[in-house]
Amino acid sequence: MKNIIYYSLTMISLLILLNLTACHSTNNKKTEQAQQTTAVQDTHPNIIYIMADDLAMQAIGAYNGRYKDIAPTPNIDRLANEGMLFKNMTCTNAICGPSRACILTGDYSHINGYYKNESGGKFNDKLWTFPQEFQKNNYQTALFGKWHLGSEPKGFDMYKYHNSANQQGEYWNPVYNENGKNVKEQGYATNLTTQFAIDWLDKIKNKQKPFLMLLQYKAPHRSWQPDHKYEHIWDSIEMPYPENFNDDYKGRELTAGDTEMTMDYLSRRDMKLKRPKNLKGREKIKWDFYGVKKAEIVQPEGMSKEQGRKWRYQKFIKSYLACVKSVDDNIGKVLDYLDQNGLTDNTVIILTSDQGFFLGEHGFFDKRFIYEEPLHMPFIVRYPKKIKAKSTNTNIVKNIDIAATLLDIANINTAHKTQGKSFKNELFGQSHSENNAMYYHYYEFPYWHHVQPHYGIRTDKYTLAHFYYNVDVWEFYDLTKDPMQMHNEIDNPQYAGIIKHLKKRLQELMEKYNDDKPLDEFRKITDTDFGSLVKLDKNESSVEKIISGKNYKYKKNKNENK
Ligand code: CA
Repeated sequence: MKNIIYYSLTMISLLILLNLTACHSTNNKKTEQAQQTTAVQDTHPNIIYIMADDLAMQAIGAYNGRYKDIAPTPNIDRLANEGMLFKNMTCTNAICGPSRACILTGDYSHINGYYKNESGGKFNDKLWTFPQEFQKNNYQTALFGKWHLGSEPKGFDMYKYHNSANQQGEYWNPVYNENGKNVKEQGYATNLTTQFAIDWLDKIKNKQKPFLMLLQYKAPHRSWQPDHKYEHIWDSIEMPYPENFNDDYKGRELTAGDTEMTMDYLSRRDMKLKRPKNLKGREKIKWDFYGVKKAEIVQPEGMSKEQGRKWRYQKFIKSYLACVKSVDDNIGKVLDYLDQNGLTDNTVIILTSDQGFFLGEHGFFDKRFIYEEPLHMPFIVRYPKKIKAKSTNTNIVKNIDIAATLLDIANINTAHKTQGKSFKNELFGQSHSENNAMYYHYYEFPYWHHVQPHYGIRTDKYTLAHFYYNVDVWEFYDLTKDPMQMHNEIDNPQYAGIIKHLKKRLQELMEKYNDDKPLDEFRKITDTDFGSLVKLDKNESSVEKIISGKNYKYKKNKNENK
């Protein structure tokens, strides 16, 4: 009996010991695995790149935007509070498709060949892009929302992009292209796009591979259609006006003074007027777009010119900000998802836009100019492990630097060289860049908005630009004295030395980036029809052709061709 008890006790002890050892070894394995995963995550963090369309700094609280008390952006502000806010992320060609091509390739438009939206053709899908490099390097990759480049997206395990209205996308019940197949969805685009993104994250989260996700909203692009719940939230409020809302374009008559992007060019559709029910096809488009041509003014009867102009601004800005509100809400959903799934620390999250936007400054809406508002992209990066919370960066960086930076953050080495350079060290607070100038070049003319093609340089203190298509105008702004760019000082003898020096620096940048060519070559790009973004049926016509009429030809004014 005694022996049996002894034997049993020995066996029990042995079993406990064995069990403990097993436990210990499992724990060891788990710790090892966790350490390995952390190491992988540290070296190859997840990346969520959120890009809204036409989102201006002036609409964001964290940038001390004009509307921050009336239309706050708490979720975008949270990113800034927990990360780094860039004050000088600049766009090298401030228009939708071209900026996207610059971001993807890390090269200027004249290198990637995607210059314009209108008649700009399709983006060359044979080109190197950063998502392809991530995919090759063991990242799970996806794209949701706006693509707007015509060709098939490359480098994504999954994509689902807006495929209606020339890939501009619709705000309501949009058609998406999901890995090559069109799917019509029901609901509001900003909410839908976010839901697809979160569903994908949920599907892949347990795989031991990092991810790169591009979440690209259609909002707040024209036609600025808010979610129904936000359609009337500011009806009783008069939104503030920018100080230079009543710009008279003195000294800039042939450039800023000769556009089709003032408040006088907002259409019936922009103003949310109710279209007669019986209209179809071309008639429907013509009705909607009434207002985009000279001498077509949309406003309620009985209003004075000045009242009408303010009325249009109020309608526009309220719709725009309501679209931004949905973008902000949805960024909140993504941040919540990261928090709830333990992904916050290991995920680099970026908020940006394809360019900035005028919100009434100079009396404008839209973008295109080297002027401050379209040139600047909001750019906020959160990565708790490496980026100091509440930090700001004022160095001049460019949209072509984004590709190299993302690859650098992910420690992906590539033999491919881009014109853009990584600014990771600045982002991680490890160095201070000496870059204090950028080169700019815009080509599209006269559609849309009639903005003269121009190239230029923006330094930490000055802007110098040459508008050249069928005018020959130089502009120079001293940004420390004239941040709103109301005084073209090109002929002011006080600045002669500075302007001469800047022209030299501009020339050097053109040479550096291989864009030092005769003006005629630039004009040829503007004049070239590179084709449509998407193939039109033979009965279809571009909106531009419908609204401009078959025989509509752009007419030069007498001051041009000097
Ligand atoms: Ca855009």
